[in-house]
Amino acid sequence: MVTHTIENSRAPVLVLNQNYQPLSICNIRRAIKLLCKGKAESVQDSGRYLHTVDNIFDRPDVIRLIYMVKRPLQRRKMSRREIFTRDNFSCQYCGKKSNDMTIDHVQPRCKGGKFTWDNVVSACKPCNHRKADRTPGEARMKLRNKPYEPVPNPYSFLVSEPLRPTWLPFIPRPIAN
Ligand SMILES: [Zn+2]
Repeated sequence: MVTHTIENSRAPVLVLNQNYQPLSICNIRRAIKLLCKGKAESVQDSGRYLHTVDNIFDRPDVIRLIYMVKRPLQRRKMSRREIFTRDNFSCQYCGKKSNDMTIDHVQPRCKGGKFTWDNVVSACKPCNHRKADRTPGEARMKLRNKPYEPVPNPYSFLVSEPLRPTWLPFIPRPIAN
């Protein structure tokens, strides 16, 4: 009797681009489909087997596409955490580092300032309090850096997923750590 279900079909599989750069994560079912259609090759098996209706496969943990996929990089989502990270957790007015940082709208909200990368900075509580609803010019406070939108992170899809040990050799160092 042949097993009709794909065992643990939701188990994540790391998908590499043709140049071995991590591209995305898919499930086993999709990975098998790509392998069967010859669109990908397995570069790291899990050491386990997978039964389908008419076949037994080595269950892949990492697959590599045989063609190059060009994908536009996703822009960074704006969040307090991302803004603090961009500013290296330091106040953009006095330079003090703190884990108790606030978000300052350079052009204040009451004056039409928006929550955009180029209008928000990290500020310590005393500086934020001092600046209040004024522009830096009005408050006579100088920004240490011009706020900017950080470059997109091509590996943002890896952040939400626990990394499997077998993936680590394929993931660039700072992200694998
Ligand atoms: Zn400050």
